[in-house]
Amino acid sequence: MEDVIILGTGCAGFTAGIYTARANLSPLILEGKQPGGQLTTTSEVENFPGFPDGIDGFALMDQLRRQALRFGARVENAYVEKVDFTDSRKVLFAGDKTFEAKSVIIATGAAPRLLGVPGEMEMFGGKGVTTCATCDGAFYRDMDVVVVGGGDSACEEALFLTRFCSKVTLVHRRDELRASKIMAERTLENEKVSTLWDSAVQEILPDDEGKTRGIRVKNVKNGEESDVPCKGVFIAIGHVPNTAPFKGVLPLDENGYLHPESGSMVRTSMPGVFVAGDCADHVYRQAITAAGMGCQSAIEAERWLAECE
Ligand code: NAP
Repeated sequence: MEDVIILGTGCAGFTAGIYTARANLSPLILEGKQPGGQLTTTSEVENFPGFPDGIDGFALMDQLRRQALRFGARVENAYVEKVDFTDSRKVLFAGDKTFEAKSVIIATGAAPRLLGVPGEMEMFGGKGVTTCATCDGAFYRDMDVVVVGGGDSACEEALFLTRFCSKVTLVHRRDELRASKIMAERTLENEKVSTLWDSAVQEILPDDEGKTRGIRVKNVKNGEESDVPCKGVFIAIGHVPNTAPFKGVLPLDENGYLHPESGSMVRTSMPGVFVAGDCADHVYRQAITAAGMGCQSAIEAERWLAECE
């Protein structure tokens, strides 16, 4: 049985890995469907302390991974679908593999939210609909694209796409951006970016080959519908926490975020089970706060294991 298993290889998971490994707990870190977490789909990370010139998201995650491995953490690819925390021996089920641990740190992060409109799934991936400009932006060189959303992610995606695309239309359901002032200003000042306010996407429109030819939007104020031609639709409307395996096992809030015990950021009501990062934080959702929670959960796990002995 492992002393500690960490679920997730984002900022929270690897930071928990660094701390528990340095505490000689030889943590096993289980890597799910998105190795390296959300930062691997980001371009430049400008606000992680210690990198005054910014750092590529993928490079940052690679460094965190190497730092955890250096102190003896182990990483295994396994997507946990079910857990049993009823016993002091915590059991995790991932396909045909079963893992057992005295303590568990859940750092499963969050996944991009989708619009849920007709055409979205049919054209997802190679046919024009995506949630990752860093991954797919270069495929849309000299083409018109839209970005849906009004937060920092939408602005970041829009700005990144201006490097390749001829025109980027930001489609937002209100007439004011939610993004931070600096990101909003940079985006709105960019001459390649135009905005479509008060507009809710109704449908992604296919061409004869089943690829994206545009979107249909509805003006939420006057109800008028119109079509916006574009080859790419970049959806950046926030995230949903990856907490499905814990439903009915641990307390979740109404949006599915893991709910730590009152008075703690990372302890749950289940002794020996801790949470860290975006799966449990709908307020800050930053790489550095996820890393901070990873550190806290590791220290809590270490103390809890010491108390058990
Ligand atoms: P967010 O701040 O929650 O923004 C989501 C946006 O999508 C909002 O504008 C929201 O509209 C819109 N939206 C949500 N559901 C929608 C739907 N069903 N249809 C249409 N639009 C919808 O999410 P985020 O932009 O991913 O940012 C998440 C966190 O990460 C934030 O704390 C952000 O500051 C941080 N972040 C920081 C950076 C950076 O500093 N460089 C970059 C990316 C993200 P409403 O505004 O009407 O609610």
